[in-house]
Amino acid sequence: MKDNYDLVVIGGGPGGYEAAIRAGQLGMSVACIEKRVYKGEPALGGTCLNVGCIPSKALLDSSHRYEATKHDLAEHGISTGDVAIDVEQMIERKENIVKQLTGGVAALLKGNGVDWLQGWGTLVDGKGADKQVKFTALEDESESTITAKNVILAAGSVPIEIPVAKTDGERIVDSTGALDFTETPKRLGVIGAGVIGLELGSVWRRLGAEVVVYEALPNFLAAADKDIAKEAGKMLKKQGLDIRVDTKVTNAEVKGDEVVVTSEKNGEASEESFDKLIVCVGRRAYSEKLLGEDSGIELTERGLIDVDDQCKTNLDGVYAIGDLVRGPMLAHKAMEEGMMAVERIHGDKMQVNYDTIINVIYTHPEIAWVGMTEQDAEAAGYEVKTGSFNLAANGRALAQSEAQGSIKVVADAKTDRLLGMHAICAGAGDIVHQGMIAMEFVSSIEDLQLMTFAHPTISEAVHEAALSADGRAIHAIQRKKRKKK
Ligand code: FAD
Ligand code: NAD
Repeated sequence: MKDNYDLVVIGGGPGGYEAAIRAGQLGMSVACIEKRVYKGEPALGGTCLNVGCIPSKALLDSSHRYEATKHDLAEHGISTGDVAIDVEQMIERKENIVKQLTGGVAALLKGNGVDWLQGWGTLVDGKGADKQVKFTALEDESESTITAKNVILAAGSVPIEIPVAKTDGERIVDSTGALDFTETPKRLGVIGAGVIGLELGSVWRRLGAEVVVYEALPNFLAAADKDIAKEAGKMLKKQGLDIRVDTKVTNAEVKGDEVVVTSEKNGEASEESFDKLIVCVGRRAYSEKLLGEDSGIELTERGLIDVDDQCKTNLDGVYAIGDLVRGPMLAHKAMEEGMMAVERIHGDKMQVNYDTIINVIYTHPEIAWVGMTEQDAEAAGYEVKTGSFNLAANGRALAQSEAQGSIKVVADAKTDRLLGMHAICAGAGDIVHQGMIAMEFVSSIEDLQLMTFAHPTISEAVHEAALSADGRAIHAIQRKKRKKK
């Protein structure tokens, strides 16, 4: 093991490993320190590849196929006989995907000349030109000191725990536990109707669980555009997710082989029992063992590492990225920040555009957005114009049995500039990339109106939404009333 590097990255999640690879490409000497052990083996890839984005999407895909095969094929004239799900096989598939990807990251680090140090990294002193990092090896807990010209802190986040529902890894679990149920619970409770609650709640509902989701806030999906959130609430409820807003869980206790949940709405308490309870009320930055007492790093009031919009901390040559710092906790945000930090260290001028970070909730249909919601734009003082188009009138959506949901555009009425795009429809996560690209190029609604979209595609609904902002959608009735002579 070397004891001196151009760059030490602490954390091998999507933010950290992408930074390390880019630095390797640029010819720097790089070490990436990662302490994760997944199913008995040291593992790269962080939350995202091991217990986050990828495994959850694997289960979402399996459960969607099961539900669609069971319920949606008859109208196509396809008969299947009995359809069954083997949960253990589904989980094994998920594990194989995780292994393939985390192994792939290890190969990429090696191929780019990055040393993967398996253990804990602690920034002991980041103030001078030579930063001091303590490395504690997983294998034997031996400690050594590494010096580095630059350090990137990329230690990520962990689930928030709440005292009223302490996880026991068996009946009351966090998102990690909910990716590994060996059978479908008959009754599943979920605390938090956020991204994880909706995604993992959907997985187990599709496989047959009765799912109750408790949400403390009065508004469902408060961060989404209000029209899209309303539509999402209706659709998910229709699918069978029993979402209870404005409802606070005050206690959860394991009694025998059940979890008894007490909740409160409008001052009235009620009790319900479940086989399993998932606690997913958000995540918190993880900085345990990351910073020595004399590291010199400043934190924000909320305990995040304080950085500017280029991910620079208060110390020269020390950067922090991803879930450890301000902004949404998203893998693609972490990755771009990792890339930006390295480009900056190298003397280049990359800048993440925080206004165009896409959000996707991988329910079916997907819910996705980029830029401002209608309410954000109004609050920011814009004179707002919007346009939307319903997928019920989109030929491709109908042909695919996906004629549900809508696409909405939000624009500045004075300049016609596109400010946001919001979608709830099949493939919404891909669709809103059109909005992201358009916003990056400061496009107007008219730009979108004048482009030729292929027929028949779901993307045509983007075109129609833009047309509808000026009352010109073709497959919707938007005729101006004739003035009486
Ligand atoms: P992490 O991925 O958390 O990686 C940090 C790594 O640092 C960890 O592996 C940790 O072991 C290591 N580490 C911490 N401290 C030390 C130390 N002192 N020394 C050495 N190593 C250390 N985001 C999306 O964009 N799309 C999704 O679909 C999505 N789905 C998700 C589903 C679930 C169930 C969950 C839980 C999260 C999901 N996320 C998703 C969020 C996404 O996983 C995170 O935003 C992303 O992983 C953050 O990347 P990161 O590199 O900042 O941190
Ligand atoms: P979240 O912030 O999305 O949702 C948590 C929800 O729990 C909120 O609606 C909140 O009001 C509610 N809540 C908080 N305390 C509560 C309580 N005591 N009782 C009832 N409700 C309560 O958090 P999450 O779903 O845990 O996800 C964590 C992070 O992981 C998110 O910030 C997200 O960025 C990331 N993630 C992203 C994806 C994706 O991009 N598709 C998927 C999963 C996770």
